[in-house]
Amino acid sequence: MIVLKFGGTSLGNPVRMQNLVELIKQNQKQIIVLSAVAGTTNKLLQITEFLYNNDLENALKEISLLRIFYHEYVNELFSDIIYKEKSLNLINEHFNYLETFTIDLFTKNEERIIIAQGELISTALFHFYLESKKMKSILLSALDFMKIDENAEPEIDFLRSNLKPILESNISENIIITQGFICRNNFGQIDNLKRGGSDYSASLIGAALLADEIQIWTDIDGMHNNDPRIVNATKPVPYLSFDEAAELAYFGAKILHPQSVLPAQKF
Ligand code: ADP
Ligand code: ASP
Ligand code: MG
Repeated sequence: MIVLKFGGTSLGNPVRMQNLVELIKQNQKQIIVLSAVAGTTNKLLQITEFLYNNDLENALKEISLLRIFYHEYVNELFSDIIYKEKSLNLINEHFNYLETFTIDLFTKNEERIIIAQGELISTALFHFYLESKKMKSILLSALDFMKIDENAEPEIDFLRSNLKPILESNISENIIITQGFICRNNFGQIDNLKRGGSDYSASLIGAALLADEIQIWTDIDGMHNNDPRIVNATKPVPYLSFDEAAELAYFGAKILHPQSVLPAQKF
């Protein structure tokens, strides 16, 4: 069993999502953890800002622009008309839901529900995409097994004891898709593992299941010796120990969620 995590950059446009199929081996058991399409979580957060400020006009405008972005994404992703329609309906359900948040009290709880939509959308679209390519897969909701405690620390025993039975009841399935980033908190509400948290989801799942490998796929060829967005001519570091990778992540190398190394190292 391996865990593959694809970040927002790997889903940034429909062609990139299509290309992921090349990386999936149908004869090997794998859990595919997806982030939201690049830019989506930021947009959703922007919508929540407008809602906090009771600026319904701008909130609705941003919701509408993001809905259009996803309509275009879906139209390009699928050639099959049936899947196109199924996916457009799915997108509309999510965006109609987002619009309902403009008519009531807005709190942190609503904010977390809103920013969870990105991963819920990307995983559902990828599931449809694989289905349209006649590749069998199952879509699991991370909200059924990923949980944080009152200190916002992930509960790995809960994860293991809830995910294992789900996998055992789907023993013949090789391709399992789930959301990164999102989880439930100790009140049972929708919550998340903080920005960039899909890496952490993948490594927690890998650790809980004692996976053979956790692969974090992104838009760069490995961890570089410096942040390529700031420094010119950086180079990939060919070999890094867990401690070195964790140190780089802790000191701000955006490539990895700072806590994501530990579960892989510990288990
Ligand atoms: P994803 O959407 O796949 O999670 P991120 O944007 O979170 O991708 O992380 C990948 C990006 O991290 C790279 O494109 C790169 O710009 C940036 N980055 C920052 N520091 C480093 C580093 N030391 N090595 C490699 N990439 C880095
Ligand atoms: N979508 C979330 C974020 O933008 C999680 C992630 O990308 O890892 O922070
Ligand atoms: Mg990331």
